[in-house]
Amino acid sequence: MNKKMTAKVIRTIVVQAVLIIITITVVGGAVITHQKYKNTPDPDSTTSSQDSQSSSEVTDTQSTSSSSMSQQSSEPDDTTSSTQPPVDSDKYPYAYAGFMPEITDVNVDLSKFIVNGKYSLPKNYKPTLAEAVKGTDVMLDYRVAPYYQAMYDAAKADGITLTPVSGYRSYERQTNNFENRIAQNMKAGLDRKEATIKAATVIMVPGSSEHNAGLAMDICSLSESFENSKEFEWLSKNAANYGFILRYPKDAKSREITGVVYEPWHYRFVGIDTAKDIKAKGVTLEEYLGLA
Ligand SMILES: [Zn+2]
Repeated sequence: MNKKMTAKVIRTIVVQAVLIIITITVVGGAVITHQKYKNTPDPDSTTSSQDSQSSSEVTDTQSTSSSSMSQQSSEPDDTTSSTQPPVDSDKYPYAYAGFMPEITDVNVDLSKFIVNGKYSLPKNYKPTLAEAVKGTDVMLDYRVAPYYQAMYDAAKADGITLTPVSGYRSYERQTNNFENRIAQNMKAGLDRKEATIKAATVIMVPGSSEHNAGLAMDICSLSESFENSKEFEWLSKNAANYGFILRYPKDAKSREITGVVYEPWHYRFVGIDTAKDIKAKGVTLEEYLGLA
């Protein structure tokens, strides 16, 4: 009898212990999953999908985006919607998925020009363009291109080739890529809202990429191993002298602030004085501008 009681108590303890372990595992897993998504998207991962899709670019983007408009207006928002002004669906085409960035001021000095997940370009923004390196078809804002050319020439004199891989991308092209990815996700069974949120972890929402502004260049490679190259070493030493900064640094604090993964290849023009200052302070552009 006594033995039986003891066995019962032990069994209860074991069962409870197992339950606690299961709880810890599940909750811990959820936290890890959440953190994993914190530093997406990688705005440059668009380049590969862009290239692979460019041949089939693409059938019904028009109809997809127009259906997004109609879906948006009929999307039953949460309860707070009645107290908020109606969403301008032309200004915020992805508001239904929670993307309602501020529209950035494009009439500021390039040192203060901010484009990120919180500050988006006006719809269909198109800068005046110029060849980043003469004879290539990679373009930048015409105010930035001469600085890239100067940096390119200086590196060349040191035996380094700063191949311009990806500069300006049109708002329209970004929208096509984004819409294609949404369509893919919907084919896989997600509804449009879910499909949009998932697409945004891989491709920047149109207007929130510095490439849409023509202010950034992806140089040489879109691989993290670029940080071990002599080209990267040269850039680390000299880019600021030509007005460019490493926009998405490696350390965790910077990644948290920019919301973007480490991109050793992505250089943003801010002007020479500002670039030198940012480099000396070791901060992100967001911190420098007081927007972090
Ligand atoms: Zn880039």
